[in-house]
Amino acid sequence: MSETKSIISLRGLRRAFRSPHGETVALERLDLDINEGEFVTVVGPSGCGKSTLLNIVVGLLQPSSGEYFYRGTPSRGINRDIGYVTQADNLFPWRTVLRNVTFGLEMRGIGDRKQQEAKALELLDRVGLKGFAGHYRHQLSGGMRQRVNIVRTLAYDPKVILLDEPFGPLDAQTRLQLQDMLLKLWGARPTTTLIFITHDLTEAVALGDRVVVMSARPGRVREVVPVPLPRPRDIFTIHTDPAFRRVYDHIWAHLADEMKESVA
Ligand code: ADP
Repeated sequence: MSETKSIISLRGLRRAFRSPHGETVALERLDLDINEGEFVTVVGPSGCGKSTLLNIVVGLLQPSSGEYFYRGTPSRGINRDIGYVTQADNLFPWRTVLRNVTFGLEMRGIGDRKQQEAKALELLDRVGLKGFAGHYRHQLSGGMRQRVNIVRTLAYDPKVILLDEPFGPLDAQTRLQLQDMLLKLWGARPTTTLIFITHDLTEAVALGDRVVVMSARPGRVREVVPVPLPRPRDIFTIHTDPAFRRVYDHIWAHLADEMKESVA
């Protein structure tokens, strides 16, 4: 059974939200398997349940019905193997950059203070921010904040990292730089599994091993498209590769259909 091979298996997942105006079904009959060390990107029309899906995977939300297996075992509650990077950086404004990055290690009691700081500094160095270790959030650009946001999640070595449109608010050039940074960080730890939501199809194809295309609400997996591009990838030129174009055009045809049907 695929449940035992995949790190994450979702079977017949349904999630509905009740309100005084009735019920909204965010996800319905959603099936998905994600393997260890995969970089999976997720695209779909606004409101199709992408964030709901990540909230279920990390354990912040329970499914209304269906099954969620983590490493072959039914999963309930917050999963501490899983890190979550949201669009808002949520850095603590009263902590320095360094102490934002050590926070997850402190909470989990990993290492002593010296070891925590050494690990944080090494990661900050890898993303070009060692010189900003003593700075505070308000002293950083949007791109720098997201760099810190990502390395503070990497610091405690989660097995799976969920990223919900992490580069959404950034300008095009900064996005490319951060995509490049993310690929390099992930390349150095290939067993980490990434699930990355984006509304940018170019980003989804450039980064992913597979692109999950979701249907308009209620969200289901419409198609899972493999991206047959070798790694390491050059994020700055990959869009000129004919294989990139083929995958992009194929998905776009589906996505355009879903967007015509969806009400955001
Ligand atoms: P996406 O991330 O794809 O934009 P979401 O997962 O945020 O979609 O939302 C899917 C649907 O579920 C939307 O219609 C949204 O309004 C609804 N929804 C999400 N969270 C809640 C909630 N806590 N209460 C009520 N409705 C919700």
